[in-house]
Amino acid sequence: MTTSPASVLGVPQPAWAGEDVAMLYDMATKFLEAEIAPRYEEFEKAEIFDRESWKKAGENGLLCASIPEEYGGSGGTYAHESAIIEAISHVGVDGFGIALHNSIVAPYILHYGSEEQKKKWLPRMATGELIGAIAMTEPGAGSDLQGVKTRAEKDGNHYRINGSKTFITNGQLANLIVVVTKTDPARGAKGTSLIVVETDEVDGFRRGRNLDKVGLKSNDTSELFFDDVRVPTSNLLGTEEGQGFVQLMQQLPQERLQIGGTAIAAIEKALAITIDYVKERRAFGKAVIDFQNTQFKLAELKTEATVGRVFYNDCVARHVAGGLDPSTASMAKYWLSDLQGKVMDECVQLHGGYGFMNEYPIARMWRDARVQRIYGGTNEIMKLLIARGL
Ligand SMILES: Cc1cc2nc3c(=O)[nH]c(=O)nc-3n(C[C@H](O)[C@H](O)[C@H](O)COP(=O)(O)OP(=O)(O)OC[C@H]3O[C@@H](n4cnc5c(N)ncnc54)[C@H](O)[C@@H]3O)c2cc1C
Repeated sequence: MTTSPASVLGVPQPAWAGEDVAMLYDMATKFLEAEIAPRYEEFEKAEIFDRESWKKAGENGLLCASIPEEYGGSGGTYAHESAIIEAISHVGVDGFGIALHNSIVAPYILHYGSEEQKKKWLPRMATGELIGAIAMTEPGAGSDLQGVKTRAEKDGNHYRINGSKTFITNGQLANLIVVVTKTDPARGAKGTSLIVVETDEVDGFRRGRNLDKVGLKSNDTSELFFDDVRVPTSNLLGTEEGQGFVQLMQQLPQERLQIGGTAIAAIEKALAITIDYVKERRAFGKAVIDFQNTQFKLAELKTEATVGRVFYNDCVARHVAGGLDPSTASMAKYWLSDLQGKVMDECVQLHGGYGFMNEYPIARMWRDARVQRIYGGTNEIMKLLIARGL
């Protein structure tokens, strides 16, 4: 019998994981196992998913789970998004970029969009017709988002957008991009605005390379170029210009929590497959699990993972109740992604040489884990944010 990632830790189900959340987790798991896992190797090689998978995810209720039903979503909360995030990592299809679409891009439109914008974009995001991306990072501005140079100048009832972005998740597939721009460069953070670009409707938008990454191969990550891209002023998110920085600061805690959710679910998967492996693999006449070093290592990892799971569950409970502060969300992102790196490394070690072979899932999981400490704000930036509140 194989060990189940969902129950490897034995932490009691939190109150937020009620019946409908559990049902969604089961449904997502079944869908991902049946439709995505068999083709995952193909997507890893192609370094991109196909649109068909997004559409199928939409048909199966995996897109916009926390968006109200009136806008085409399923009317859930972040707890429902968490069920999907966890199913993705438990099944082992981490490169499927729907979590960013669901719990980062769609919420910008839900929270800051006008009624007209919500009706225009969210239902099509829920079906997978529109694939979302958020374009903050530029070649010269990553951690320091105030350094964004992409300019949006008013030109009658349009904005003209000029600039370039890099490292954008879903960048090759996305046809709805929330772009971080400067509408008034002289005002620094207060001159920052979020503008939606529907790529099929504009001229001057160009995608650069699908970047060659170390891990998360099946997730397209791209450069984007904006050369005099004209979008209606009604594509601005928020009632006036200059609100972009505040909007980012309000939404980034959910992005950070989501990275923490991915981390704890990947940790559970890694522990489950490693426990199975060391029970099977034999050396010096006994199973690898019979060595005290193996037992102690796995005991340590399981303990830390349990601490991490309880912390993550508490963060989700607070977030669903509307009370997760940015500092605690930063702790979840930094600590859980650090732990993910440590667990993956130890689990590769316990697999011996097979842990370095791509045909063993732990090898891919080890590669995929590395970026978790970098994107969504580096772990150093998380510590700065936590330190600010001391
Ligand atoms: C696979 C992948 C997907 C991504 N997806 C997206 C996306 O969808 N959208 C998007 O906008 N961006 C995305 N990013 C970009 C990501 O968010 C940035 O790479 C990240 O914020 C770091 O910025 P940077 O790469 O410019 O590093 P830099 O800011 O140049 O940092 C370099 C080093 O300096 C450290 N550092 C910087 N400032 C400080 C400081 N004040 N104190 C201490 N140390 C500091 C950093 O921690 C880091 O170790 C993605 C990146 C990757 C790799």
